[in-house]
Amino acid sequence: MSKELENLEDLRRLVEKRYSLSIISANVVVNDVFYLDAQGQCHKGRLAAPLNQPTPETLGAPHNHQMHWSGSQPCYLNGSAIPLGMGGPVNVPLGDTIYTRHLSIKPSPTTSYSTYSEMIEHYVALISAPAQSKYKVTPLTGAVYDVPEDTSPFKVQDTFSAKAEILDLNKLLTNDRIAIIGLGGTGSFVLDFMVKTPVKMIDAYDFDIFAVHNGFRSPGEVPFDDFGKPKTELCRRKYEPFRHRLSFHNKRVGKGDEALFANTTFAFVCIDDGELRGEICDMLIRLGVQFIDVGMGIEKEAAGLDGLIRTTLFTRGSAPVAIKEVPLDRRDENNIYRVFVQIAELNALNAALAVICYKQLRGFYFDERHYYQSFISLGSSNWIGKGMKYSILEVEQFPDSVQPGILYWSKKFKISAHHCACGCGDVIYLPVDPANYSIRMDKRGPTLRPSVGNWNVCNAHYFITNGDVQWAAKWTPEQITAGRALEEARRDAYYSSRNRSIRQVLLRWLRILLKALRITR
Ligand SMILES: [Zn+2]
Repeated sequence: MSKELENLEDLRRLVEKRYSLSIISANVVVNDVFYLDAQGQCHKGRLAAPLNQPTPETLGAPHNHQMHWSGSQPCYLNGSAIPLGMGGPVNVPLGDTIYTRHLSIKPSPTTSYSTYSEMIEHYVALISAPAQSKYKVTPLTGAVYDVPEDTSPFKVQDTFSAKAEILDLNKLLTNDRIAIIGLGGTGSFVLDFMVKTPVKMIDAYDFDIFAVHNGFRSPGEVPFDDFGKPKTELCRRKYEPFRHRLSFHNKRVGKGDEALFANTTFAFVCIDDGELRGEICDMLIRLGVQFIDVGMGIEKEAAGLDGLIRTTLFTRGSAPVAIKEVPLDRRDENNIYRVFVQIAELNALNAALAVICYKQLRGFYFDERHYYQSFISLGSSNWIGKGMKYSILEVEQFPDSVQPGILYWSKKFKISAHHCACGCGDVIYLPVDPANYSIRMDKRGPTLRPSVGNWNVCNAHYFITNGDVQWAAKWTPEQITAGRALEEARRDAYYSSRNRSIRQVLLRWLRILLKALRITR
């Protein structure tokens, strides 16, 4: 019996009765749940439910009366469906099993289960009874299954993600090694949020002491004895009990520190000094590390504090435009009498926007706009975003390095090229002719039709309209296949309606070649 099962008395009772239980990603899993399908065939499914742990050592009552189910519809001996309150499709991956349905059975119309053992026994008896009587199988196999190695970065079971059913989305973050550069006002809140995010690893950098003013601008307790100590030391003490793979570096990051970020997959740059920011941005861009730079400009006006809170996202696609948006100047003599105000709630808001933007980039949060820069304007309560924009450049041949933000169009070869609007860095080549794409010029910017779907690379799907990017819904694999077939049919109709000149044959060949190289859709 695993240590976790042994420690939780409610579940230990079931194991002692020879139920086959496992604990995976803060869910209790019931293996070997035999059931009959409509044809009377016997199958094995799994039930699971998120653990409710008020403390790491105790188990409370189940969160609700539902359980996840991995099998198909269980049936009675006569082939009719057992009413189990089966809900619509869900996606809960636990180990090597995907649970696709919720079952919803209460012990009685007005009550709920007070223990996990009561709930599990109720469900197993309902589902397994027909298979037990027909095939003499029993769910009480006592079998012990291998459970996947626990790679969670947290030192407690992540019952939070299990309950919220976001384990599938968490997987989008689990390979990231995050760097947080600067643990001042905003950086300390970024760290606080990221410590609770299931990324693989976090490296945090700061070279300063925890001064009295930091006590007013950082999350959580302010230990009186800790003023004057390095911020990294304080943060280590605060967060190490909660998660693994958290490293603190008492160091000023700058030019020449490339080696530190060789394995970094995403960074947050949270520093005030414009000159140092410039050094760090240059280095991360050179290394190809995606990152977010944060900052705010808040000033004291007659009517109160006002200003902007900024997050700027640097990807391969956005970096050339993003670098022009961030202040890289040193606080010079002219600014010596300016007071730059930062207040904890503004730092927390700036950090929250940055972490949300990172999670949107990874697909954890829905992102309809794909802004590379966001401003919150305090006084006007506005959120202002900037997305990628394209200008048109007519060329005969494409340059060796295709620049982001430009839609290149070779009328001679009837092909266009542009950086994918999602910032993934992929360059997309599209044929421009009556059978494929059209480009319309306007003083506001180019319009490209139909939509661009980068299905081979990043799944980005968008229109370019008057130079602006309009994001469209992501397609399912079935929609992509259907869309491709439709395009083929359209092209065939177009080409068969014309006499093919040698040049058209050559162009067609070129398109097939591009497609084979997977650089067009
Ligand atoms: Zn892309």
